[in-house]
Amino acid sequence: MKKETYLGVNVSALPEQAMLEVIKSRVQSGEQSTVIAVNPEKFIASQSNETLKRLINHSTFQIPDGIGVILASRLKGGTIRSRITGVDFMQKLLKLATIEGYNVFFYGAKEEVVSKAVKSAEDTYPGIQIVGYENGYYNDEDALIKRINELKSDMLFVAMGSPKQELWIERNMSRLNVKVFQGVGGSFDVLAG
Ligand code: UDP
Repeated sequence: MKKETYLGVNVSALPEQAMLEVIKSRVQSGEQSTVIAVNPEKFIASQSNETLKRLINHSTFQIPDGIGVILASRLKGGTIRSRITGVDFMQKLLKLATIEGYNVFFYGAKEEVVSKAVKSAEDTYPGIQIVGYENGYYNDEDALIKRINELKSDMLFVAMGSPKQELWIERNMSRLNVKVFQGVGGSFDVLAG
């Protein structure tokens, strides 16, 4: 995958549409993909937090969520020109899921927030298959993994703040049949309005 590296942090250098195409073909071939938004907060924190740097660099896609990365790319002769926020990319993935018929699961945020976020996504993307959701304070990990797999979830959004959500994904992805994972921080709150 095309990447650029700034201060030891990898950032995907594919245009958004190309990333979505790669994700689609990885789903088809049964490969798992992880998406993380590299925003200024995470970029700075990763300079003194090796765990966060590892979580970013081990992700399949590091989306450029900040003007800093774009400026660095311009200065260093890279090709990254557009900012993509985590919530925007999530919306693109929800659209892809609707078109491709992927089953979606939402995990994270408070109960009233995640349930509203699910309703909002169902209104915005008619026909989307959101097969289940769970609030981010539920912590029976084994039961949740079993449920996500039983519901044949293909795409999982985890909203518990960073790096908690990325650590959860890293710890559990090998026993999940999910193909696309994104840690989305406060995005359920944004969707819930
Ligand atoms: N959250 C959660 N479980 C936790 C801690 C936080 O579900 O154990 C949720 C919280 O309710 C909120 C989101 O995670 O909806 C936190 O998002 P925040 O904006 O802090 O994340 P960031 O975007 O800064 O990574």
